[in-house]
Amino acid sequence: MTAISLLRCGLAGSAMMLSTASPAAELPATIETVIIGPFSGDDRARIAQALDEWNRALNGVARFAPAADANGRRVWAITAIAQSPVQNRRETLAEVKALPAGGGLLMIYLDRIRGKNLDGIMLHELGHVLGLQHEGSRGLMAAEYNPHDQKCVDYAAMAQLAELYDLPLQKLRWCGEATPAR
Ligand SMILES: [Zn+2]
Repeated sequence: MTAISLLRCGLAGSAMMLSTASPAAELPATIETVIIGPFSGDDRARIAQALDEWNRALNGVARFAPAADANGRRVWAITAIAQSPVQNRRETLAEVKALPAGGGLLMIYLDRIRGKNLDGIMLHELGHVLGLQHEGSRGLMAAEYNPHDQKCVDYAAMAQLAELYDLPLQKLRWCGEATPAR
């Protein structure tokens, strides 16, 4: 058994590709969320903590908020899945699937996250919800789960977000030093 687990994230489509040739994608002012499925009270508190940390870092530029209409077109459903469908060797803890019209599915595999910090996993996955890709071998958006690195929104994640949406970095917040992805 390995202590490191893979956060596999099924980002869909070319809209997620970073490209200097195409105009910047638009970051919605409000990213609507609903929380669905058999999460425990503690799980829900950790999800709320991760959403709060992203909102602090986004600093009003965009905001995660509960969806007014749970069936709305651009809603992100944060969904508890009791058992991961694929019993692969390298554990997939969570997956993100974006829908072409906006919104999508953030699936958390409850059988895989036991003993791991869901708030850290959620911080990473919410990065994918915002369109971020894996970057570096350490830090929030590293592909490998590392509880020491995934405690807050770091500079590398915010720099990637700023580039993706053509945002001035000084409007955003992050934790720690302003260092690139390691
Ligand atoms: Zn990931």
